[in-house]
Amino acid sequence: MHGVYNPGLVALSLIVAVLASYMTLDLATRIVLIAAYGQRRFFWLSGGAASMGTGIWSMHFIGMLALRMPIEMGYDLWMTVCSLLLAVVSSGLALMLMTRRRMGRTTLFAGGVLMGLGIAAMHYVGMLAMRMHPAIHYAPAMFALSVGIAVAASWAALWLAFTLRDVGKKELRWKRVAAALVMGGAVASVHYLGMCAARFPAGASCGVKGGVNTDELTLIVTGVTLCVLMVTLIASIMGTKFDLQELRMSASLEAANRQLIDMATRDALTGIANRKAYMEELERAVVRAKESGGKFTVMFMDLDGFKAVNDSLGHSAGDMLLKAFSRHLIQSVRSGDSVARLGGDEFVVLLEGLGRPQEIEQVAMNILGRMQEEFRIEGTPLRVTTSIGIATYPEDGDTAEALLKSADMAMYDAKQNGRNRYRFFDTEMSKAAAKTLMIYRGLSEAIRNNQFSLVFQPKFRSVGGVTGVEALIRWIHPEMGNIPPLDFISVAEQTGQIGEICDWVLAEVCRMINRWKTLGLPPVKVAVNLSPEQLHQDDYVERVQALVEAAGVRPEQIMFEITETVAMHDAEMTAELIQKFQRAGFDIAIDDFGTGYSSLAYLQQFRVKQLKIDRFFTLGLDSQGEEGHTIVSKMIELAHSLQMVVVAEGVETESQMEMLKDLKCDELQGFLLGRPLPSGDLERLLQEEHGVEVREPEHEMLMLPAPKSLTAAMW
Ligand code: C2E
Ligand code: MG
Ligand code: MG
Repeated sequence: MHGVYNPGLVALSLIVAVLASYMTLDLATRIVLIAAYGQRRFFWLSGGAASMGTGIWSMHFIGMLALRMPIEMGYDLWMTVCSLLLAVVSSGLALMLMTRRRMGRTTLFAGGVLMGLGIAAMHYVGMLAMRMHPAIHYAPAMFALSVGIAVAASWAALWLAFTLRDVGKKELRWKRVAAALVMGGAVASVHYLGMCAARFPAGASCGVKGGVNTDELTLIVTGVTLCVLMVTLIASIMGTKFDLQELRMSASLEAANRQLIDMATRDALTGIANRKAYMEELERAVVRAKESGGKFTVMFMDLDGFKAVNDSLGHSAGDMLLKAFSRHLIQSVRSGDSVARLGGDEFVVLLEGLGRPQEIEQVAMNILGRMQEEFRIEGTPLRVTTSIGIATYPEDGDTAEALLKSADMAMYDAKQNGRNRYRFFDTEMSKAAAKTLMIYRGLSEAIRNNQFSLVFQPKFRSVGGVTGVEALIRWIHPEMGNIPPLDFISVAEQTGQIGEICDWVLAEVCRMINRWKTLGLPPVKVAVNLSPEQLHQDDYVERVQALVEAAGVRPEQIMFEITETVAMHDAEMTAELIQKFQRAGFDIAIDDFGTGYSSLAYLQQFRVKQLKIDRFFTLGLDSQGEEGHTIVSKMIELAHSLQMVVVAEGVETESQMEMLKDLKCDELQGFLLGRPLPSGDLERLLQEEHGVEVREPEHEMLMLPAPKSLTAAMW
């Protein structure tokens, strides 16, 4: 008995097969995508298996319906459902395999066999549903071929689905269409080969009576199947869109997170590790060394004169220099050494596995050596140097912080010893640094707790008589006692506390001037020392002017002293500043003259009121004989030629005083004539000098009689 195929239905079955295959491949991709979201995987796998199974099954069913037999046909309901179930289960199995993260050869082989057998079983169970009498006979070769093709098609499907499942690649879509054609064709060929293998014995009849009308059934099955496939495809696309959005969002979140971590551990400017990351690394190194009993080294460095580059060439040039330096640093150390920027121009290196000092020295020399090369910053060749401090675990500190501190101290020492060098930490440094630290801490409380006071050292005309006084700050620390200004002013300058201190000095000077006025003392000019930091403030003169004015003090009563070194450091700027001060009515003196490198041209340009010869040269009058005498004499000549008043500082002996008088030095200042005095003592001195009777303000204590010898005063 032979049947006739309805070509339309055959074509339809092929379309369904290809569609189902395409959907399967598509689903596999999407499930891979959303597999990360655990709970949904199950939903997608079951939904996918149902629709894919229905697709394959209905392809078979349509194929069977396409065969018009000369007898009336029917299908056993339970058998049909059973074949559908077989299709769904094997589809589920296939999908599960296709969406695994990895697929080995064994999995591919076993999966293909199982899936192929599932499809073949579905087909032959579907055939059984016709319940033919006598039973259908199958040609063994064809039968085997159909099963073989089912298995081969399954392998191909699994492999294709696995390799074509990459997300979001446009070119894959066409490959997937081609693959779906192959797969669909293969699935269909299982069916049609199976049908070819089937021999319907002559006179056989269908055992299912009163079944559904074949035509109606065809329509229903086709319609439902197409609907299922379409709905699945649409749901899948929509779902994936949603998932993709979520995936993208989580990807961008992840990227942002990574960026955040990066920001937290990387230095934004140079891209190398930052302080936080370095400290963590250092802590890990401490743990490692503790366990292994090993050593490691920390190098701390900063750029000598970085501030000057930043100030003169601008911040962007400074940034470029920092970047260039970080590259230099990376090239100077071994690849495994960690390099970090702590902030500003401070950099650190962590060296592990270098035991001998010579090896460490070699690295330090590498760094210094490389600095000999020029940096090119915005086309300007620039040569900068660095100072390096070295500390080793465990000798110089057994915690990350202690090590860093030791290395920092060693660097400070390198700087103070001429820069462009390295220094190994030693305990002497730590004593000095501990003091610095205490000063730093103490300074922040000094003003609040009234620990500062002013003393006033008089300047005398060489023929006698006070011409003015110099205000000098004193700090009595509750624990450390008297701290000399040179010790704390440099710290205050480094930490930025100097501004507050100098403002206090000026306010106190104004207060004193007013007090002396109320006491009825004749006006005395007070010299105030300026710190270099203040000169860099744009509006400094205006601020001083406002402060002095607010205190009701005339500017002529105040003179500012600028040290020669500071004045000459940026002579152009100093010249401008001096002019500003002078226009505001203040006098200027050049302090510590002779210690810096003066340019005569600038000295002329400054046109300051006073030139104060440094104590060193006054000392030289006694100790350096003829030569010392000549130098001072030249200085006085020079000052006079520029119409300046010359003051000799640090006059301690009679002979110095005599020589200075002979050399026509205008004024003298020094312990011999008058030590720096607390205001009470100064008041008595002035009172004595001018024969004035002091009118003590009502609220203050009455003054004690003036001491006979002024040099015996406490300072
Ligand atoms: P300077 O302005 O050159 O002050 C003179 C220093 O020499 C003072 O030291 C003074 O006590 C000392 N001196 C005066 N006569 C003699 C002498 O005959 N022999 C010896 N050996 N020394 C003498 P001092 O008070 O320790 O101040 C040191 C430096 O600290 C000052 O040098 C000044 O640059 C700075 N300084 C002091 N007070 C202030 C202040 O209020 N503000 C600022 N910015 N700096 C200050
Ligand atoms: Mg001075
Ligand atoms: Mg001086």
